[in-house]
Amino acid sequence: MMNNIKMFLVRYAEIGTKGKNRYVFEDILCKRIRRRLEPLGEFKVWRDFGRIYIEALSDYDYDDAVAKLTKIFGIVGLCPVTVADELTYEALQKAVYEHFEDTFDGDYNFTFKVHTRRINKNFPMNSMEIDMEIGHDLLEKYESDGLRVDVHKPDVMVEVELRGENGYVYSKIIPGPGGLPVGTNGKAMSLLSGGIDSPVATYMIAKRGVEMEAVYFNSPPYTSARALEKVEKLGTIVSQYAGPIKLHIINFTDIQLCIYDNCPHDQLTIIMKRIFFQIAERLAEANGCDAIVTGESIGQVSSQTMQSLSVIDSAVTCPVYRPVIGMDKQEIVEYSQKIGTFETSIEPYEDCCTIFVDKHPVTKPKMKSIEKSESHLVGKVEALIDKAIEEAEVVWLK
Ligand code: ATP
Ligand code: MG
Repeated sequence: MMNNIKMFLVRYAEIGTKGKNRYVFEDILCKRIRRRLEPLGEFKVWRDFGRIYIEALSDYDYDDAVAKLTKIFGIVGLCPVTVADELTYEALQKAVYEHFEDTFDGDYNFTFKVHTRRINKNFPMNSMEIDMEIGHDLLEKYESDGLRVDVHKPDVMVEVELRGENGYVYSKIIPGPGGLPVGTNGKAMSLLSGGIDSPVATYMIAKRGVEMEAVYFNSPPYTSARALEKVEKLGTIVSQYAGPIKLHIINFTDIQLCIYDNCPHDQLTIIMKRIFFQIAERLAEANGCDAIVTGESIGQVSSQTMQSLSVIDSAVTCPVYRPVIGMDKQEIVEYSQKIGTFETSIEPYEDCCTIFVDKHPVTKPKMKSIEKSESHLVGKVEALIDKAIEEAEVVWLK
């Protein structure tokens, strides 16, 4: 159904508040929309007086297009538009009927109001007359199906716009994800694991307009190929919103063993995280990323106490963004369900943390003590880190 819809009006909120930069934001959003719709057919995307329009120039699948558009950050809402191809009352009336059939799929049990705007004043009726005539026609046709008028708080506002040589009818707002278009806020490097939290964290930072790269620390043969596949799958789901994600796969096994052989086992996780961060920071610098991102949340596990986070932080100088820092596990779970990563995240897997984890890890690490332990790595781990970075494998997730 709804294949008669040939046009969408895109609503966006936040980018409208950026003053002169607004055009930059709008242009990037247009670009994102074009890129995302490319595989579905031929579309024209343009901006005009603080609005973005999408017009289908070829056949396309409506549901596919809506699925793609509702994953583009920056879009707050999407209105399917029916176009009247000439400015006569008959053409408007036909468009309104068609719009109702296409948009409400036979269910007309709601209240409505018509709201007309005449940008082109060359029309024999004024806005109020059009409101009343169209309202009258709609009632006549659908009153027996439950349609009613409510001028104060209508369920559905039927917007009629006369501009140029056309009339435009729209009524329904399909919610988008909001946020800012990716590419308007630089780039960041996300530490992406197979869990629930880091895909959500990656999504949340991307939603602020940040282009994402990701790094995964792999420990074969202690971790299986399936663990890596799972991370790739999660990154691919996030990329449906965030756009293509460059994933750096680091072979961490030798570093892990080096830590295991040289450091107290109750500090393994902390020291490992510090080296994760150092490698992520180097990858970030090499790839033009301004920050690193993790899925840590205060108190969730021993390595995420305030003390642990602070000791891990001090391994790097770049900013570390932890968007889920204040969220409960249940809240993160609900978020992951909403964006579609949850089912993949809970597939059974083991990662390097679960295998090398100590029974009684420190929960209040002291910087001095960690530094002392790390001194046992000096002269051993640096070359391993360089090698791991040199040999990093890169895959594009999209
Ligand atoms: P997640 O659900 O994201 O896996 P978690 O609750 O399992 O997080 P930890 O295992 O302590 O928590 O990891 C904390 C953060 O460190 C993760 O959110 C992720 O950003 C990063 N991280 C952990 N393991 C890896 C890994 N193997 N590769 C890349 N990043 C990792
Ligand atoms: Mg994890």
